[in-house]
Amino acid sequence: MLFGKDKNKTASGNSKPYSLTPCIICRSTGKVNCNSCDGDGKIFWPGVSGKNYPCPECKGTGQVDCPVCKGRGYN
Ligand SMILES: [Zn+2]
Ligand SMILES: [Zn+2]
Repeated sequence: MLFGKDKNKTASGNSKPYSLTPCIICRSTGKVNCNSCDGDGKIFWPGVSGKNYPCPECKGTGQVDCPVCKGRGYN
């Protein structure tokens, strides 16, 4: 029986890019939590009481491009 060989090939038939490995820092999302606001997107500005401001580091999104993979998600 020669069919077994073909069956195996089909099971792993997805073509993945060679030499690229998923980034473990951002878990291949390309984004990591912002350090400045701890992923909150807002920071409490010292001296201005009772007001939160959008974090200038992540522009209020709470996430920044992964420094390791530069936002690609793969290395
Ligand atoms: Zn931030
Ligand atoms: Zn990354």
